[in-house]
Amino acid sequence: MSDKPEKLITDDGLRLDGRRADEIRPMKIEVGVLSRADGSCYLEWGKNKILVGVFGPREAHPRRSQRADNAVIRYRYNMASFSVEDRARPGPSRRSIEISKVSREAFEPVIMTELFPKTAIDIFVEVLQADAGTRTAAINASSIALADAGIPMKGLITSCAFGKVDGQIVLDLNKEEDNYGEADFPVAMTQDGDITLLQMDGHLTPEEIKKGLELVKKGCKEILEIQRAVLRKKFETPVEEPEEET
Ligand code: UDP
Repeated sequence: MSDKPEKLITDDGLRLDGRRADEIRPMKIEVGVLSRADGSCYLEWGKNKILVGVFGPREAHPRRSQRADNAVIRYRYNMASFSVEDRARPGPSRRSIEISKVSREAFEPVIMTELFPKTAIDIFVEVLQADAGTRTAAINASSIALADAGIPMKGLITSCAFGKVDGQIVLDLNKEEDNYGEADFPVAMTQDGDITLLQMDGHLTPEEIKKGLELVKKGCKEILEIQRAVLRKKFETPVEEPEEET
């Protein structure tokens, strides 16, 4: 890993990757990239690269995992061994189990599980390249993949982190900022702004949290627009009518 830079924010108020405090990294989304999944999404956010496949609703196995009145949501976050600088050990870790749990919970308020009793909805996340913010990137991609699979939802879930770097509150930390910053605060929310995931690593004052949440709301609004545009493009593509025989 590189040494700690002397400053993470320059005297001009710019971050090392050229962003201002309230700017998110560039995001690129492709939808429907896996032919065997019911829904899928490939998302790049800065240097993060995430692939998500959604399967279901399908009969839940083993049977004892079924719920009589609801679908069960299963979320598996996995880091490819080549996704990080020091090879990630294959298989679940405490970190990946925690991320899977909180991410599943982030979707529970919006997925209409009551429509599909005894079934499972599986969300498989593969982190292909990590550069901080992978859980938030994966949630944004999962939201698109769920919509692509036609899973009924009350709305999209959007996710972004804020943090504290060189004493300043900034949006969407990159790896250097995550490593050497003072705090990281990932959030996910519904399109109405109701928070469905909130975590904190580091120390922040109530005022800093308030300021950060304002930044996150702004970031999530921008991400929601990107998500909506991608889905609109996918679902508004006119179906070609077969030519009439003469
Ligand atoms: N990371 C790593 N090895 C690991 C776990 C994480 O190099 O085993 C890096 C990776 O770039 C990740 C970042 O540390 O994106 C921050 O990890 P964190 O646990 O804060 O989760 P994230 O910000 O990715 O949601």
